Parts: sequence; structure tokens; C-alpha cells
Amino acid sequence: MEKRVTHLINGQIADGTEDRFQDVFNPATGEVTKQVALASRSTVEEAIAAAQKAFPAWRNTSPAKRAQVMYKLKHLMEKNADKICRMITDEHGKVFNDAMGELLRAVENVEFACGVPELLKGEHSKNVGPAIDSWSEHQALGVVAGITPFNFPAMVPFWMWPLAVVAGNTFILKPSERTPTASMYLTHLAQEAGLPPGVLNLVNGDKEAVDTLLTDPRVEAVSFVGSTPVAEYIYTTGTAHGKRVQALGGAKNHAIVMPDADLDNAVNALMGAAYGSCGERCMAIPVVVTVGDTTGDAVVAKLKERLAEMKIGPGSDNTNDMGPLVTKSHFEKVKGYVDLGIEEGAELVVDGRNIVVDGYENGFFLGGCLFDRVTPDMKIYRDEIFGPVLAVVRAETQQEAMDLIDAHEYGNGTCIFTRDGESARYFTDNIRVGMVGVNVPLPVPVAYHSFGGWKRSLFGDLSIYGPDGVRFYTRRKTITQRWPSASLREGAVFSFPSN
Ligand code: NAD
Repeated sequence: MEKRVTHLINGQIADGTEDRFQDVFNPATGEVTKQVALASRSTVEEAIAAAQKAFPAWRNTSPAKRAQVMYKLKHLMEKNADKICRMITDEHGKVFNDAMGELLRAVENVEFACGVPELLKGEHSKNVGPAIDSWSEHQALGVVAGITPFNFPAMVPFWMWPLAVVAGNTFILKPSERTPTASMYLTHLAQEAGLPPGVLNLVNGDKEAVDTLLTDPRVEAVSFVGSTPVAEYIYTTGTAHGKRVQALGGAKNHAIVMPDADLDNAVNALMGAAYGSCGERCMAIPVVVTVGDTTGDAVVAKLKERLAEMKIGPGSDNTNDMGPLVTKSHFEKVKGYVDLGIEEGAELVVDGRNIVVDGYENGFFLGGCLFDRVTPDMKIYRDEIFGPVLAVVRAETQQEAMDLIDAHEYGNGTCIFTRDGESARYFTDNIRVGMVGVNVPLPVPVAYHSFGGWKRSLFGDLSIYGPDGVRFYTRRKTITQRWPSASLREGAVFSFPSN
């Protein structure tokens, strides 16, 4: 495997000019496995120029031909699935099966993009006036950019670029510098599938690359997925430079467990949602609000039992339930939150801080941690920890539990566990959160719906992928047309046109 990951510009591997480099780790072993280039402004400008040059011909390629590339890409992704998942596991740490789940979601977005001829159909009205017809169409924007986080190196870029390019745009992807390899490999596969040079470019990098994309006037729109402080910065900077921006941020998703819930089912679901992918998912459930003390005691007891059975180790071994955290510094941060929770007075029921994985002593492993009696004033409740730390908050009523969720700054996902249709319906109707589950802990919308949180989990007007994705990557144009004929020829009309 290449020891350096650089860029892909105009269909070619590009070494970049004046780039810096950063170490990439295998989080299971703690070893540096390669280096990733951090693009300079001039490297990013080269990618923008390539995308701009490719735009006119690509925009004029028929949507059906653009979609053909996606059919081929789907096949290549499926053919190379194991290889891609190994790349994800080696840099992110997640268990191979979990990486496969992510990849299948990426494929699902390619399948949706295959339907672009239908998705781009506009609306047509005949005879809006005398011999006048009118129609609306969705035109491509031009050069657009996507900036993605470390935790889904395959899936999140595919929330963006397939739809953007089949709609006729050209694209620059700036993936996470912590997990660059799978994103780069998939970009190569897209070239192999037949994307013309310059239609999809990839630059690796950090703030310097991002700032170039945000300020260059040739970039029309920016999609971002990452943490809330950066999302807010991307949104304010990008819009100040006249760009269309959608910026998806962090989360602190709560699950409510009602007294009538099927508790074994709820606890199984909570285990996967809290500790799957080591808690490094924006749709993870790091807070469970139990309604009634009996429910609280029962849920905590069952979680404790299940945590004792949870298998932790390298993600390359599919028998493990949970792998390591992504980097040493993230490990230290998450462990620091566990220390803080104790200082804040929460009850640490399960302590995962001293876990050792045989043969992987230098890996960034943290065991599953469980806090009980967490209160809303605590920092471990308010902050997004992004690790395997589950907080139990106790409430007396469903309304009290819902008020907690509504008062939280984030509004990405949430779920209620109940057998009662009335409780569930009241919850889905009233909760101020963008993606809501009923007995479904990770209500991640499928590719033909759209994904987006509320409150400080999303800056911008449109969610990502699905129908909102089509709107985001296109501009509506409405055309009104008349072909005068001898019978309808009229003189100068000075009043405002009306029918
Ligand atoms: P991050 O915000 O640190 O980084 C995301 C991207 O922004 C990366 O490409 C990074 O290079 C770039 N970046 C980082 N700091 C920057 C700065 N100061 N200026 C400009 N660019 C900068 O996020 P992360 O740690 O890679 O990912 C985890 C975060 O992403 C969590 O907060 C998680 O909730 C969030 N996330 C959200 C969603 C969602 O759909 N809402 C999905 C996945 C992850």
C-alpha cells in the first residue's frame, strides 16, 4: 500500500505544491501507517481550475449518460467491498462488519443517483397565456465542494458527490485527514467507472484547504459534515462569500425508555446505538432518559450485564463488538470526560478506562462506560463526547423527558421505546429533532429520503442527500416561451402581462 496519500486532480494523482504532511494511524496498534498530504492553497486552486474546466462539457452531457457512470461505480464498489472495508477498519478502527454497513449506505446513495434523469425532470405548463408555454428546470450550479468528517470515510462523501455530479456539477472532495485512504480509493474507482477528468477531484488537507474552498469565488456551493463549531464557521464564512452552504454538525441524541417498553429489546438496541463504532457516530445514542425509577433501575441493571459481555478488540476481527477510538488525542479527550463525570457527581456504574487488549497494548482502546444519575447541568450531559460513554438520566414523565431533549442545543436524532401508540405519536409530532425513531435507535434516513438535524445540528435550509440533495445541487430556472404566429401578433402592450 502507498505510504503517502496525496490528491487526485483532473483524473491524475497529484503530488501537490508546497503541501505539508500529517501522520495517519492504525488505531488498533497505535502505529503510524502512512502520511497524508495537507494541501496548500495553490494545490486546492489547481483542483478548482480542473473542476471549472470540466464543467461545460459535463453539464451538457445527457443525464442518462451521467447516470451510466453510477451503474458502473456501484458494480466496482460491490466488487471491491472487502478491500474498502479493510481500509476503513485500518484507519478508523471500527469493526469490519460495521464498515460494511457504512459502505452499503454509500452504495445506496449511488443507486439513488442512478435515477437522476427522473429526478431532474422539471414542471411544464402549456398555454399559460396566448400561445405561451412555461416550464421550470433544475440546472447544475457549477463547481461545488464537500468537506467530510473522519467517522464515515466511505458513506459521508457519498451523501454528497454522486448526486452533485449526476446533476451536472463538478466536485472537489476534501475528506478527513485522519481517515483519507478509503475516500481516495473510492474516488479512483469513480474514475475507473468513467467519470471524465476534472469532474470529481479530491484534495486532502486541513483548515488551509478548507479556507481556500470557502473563499474562492469559483466555488458555488459547499456541503459540510463535521462538528458543530466547524459547521458554524463553514456556514458563516461560506455564505459571507456568496456560496450556498449546508453544514451538518454534531449531536447528543437521547433515547427515551417508557415504563411499558419491551426492555430487553430496548437494551439490545441501546447497546448497539451507544457503543457501536465506539460511539463515534453522529446518530449514536449517548443519553438514555428512563421514565420512572423502576424503569431506570431495570435498564441500568440490564445494560451493566450486557456491558460485561461486550467484546472489545481490533476491528479486523469480526467477532469483536467494538474497536478502538480513532486517535490517541481523541482517546485522551473521551477518557477525560469519564474523569469529569465522576467529579461532577454522576455515578460511574461501569468503568471502561483500564481495559487492556492482549497483543494490542498500544491501541487506543477504551471500554464501554456507563453513568447513572446524570443531570442536565453536567458537562458530560451537555457536550458531545463522541465515545463509548452512555449517560442515564432519570425522569418522572414522558413530558419531562421530552422537555430535556427540546432544551438541548443539538437536535440531530432521537428515539422512543414504547408499546403505546399514543405516546409514540405524541413524541413524533412534538419533539424538536430532525430524525426521529420509534423503537428504532438509529433512525438514519435511507438514500431516497433526506438526512438532517434541527437546531445546532444543521446550519442551512436543506438537509443532505435524497430529494433535498437534488434541490441543493441545482438551481431552478423558469422559462416562458411564445412563438408568435400571424393570427396572434399584437402591438406594443404597456400594461403588466396577465392572463
Ligand atoms: P471535524 O469538525 O473536526 O472535522 C470535519 C472536517 O472539517 C474535516 O475534513 C476537517 O479537516 C475539517 N476541519 C476541522 N477543523 C477545521 C477548521 N478549524 N477549519 C476548517 N476546517 C476544519 O469533525 P470530525 O472530528 O472529523 O468528525 C466528528 C464530528 O462530525 C462529530 O461532531 C460528529 O457528530 C459530526 N458528524 C456529524 C454528522 C451529521 O450528519 N450531522 C455525520 C457525521 C459526523
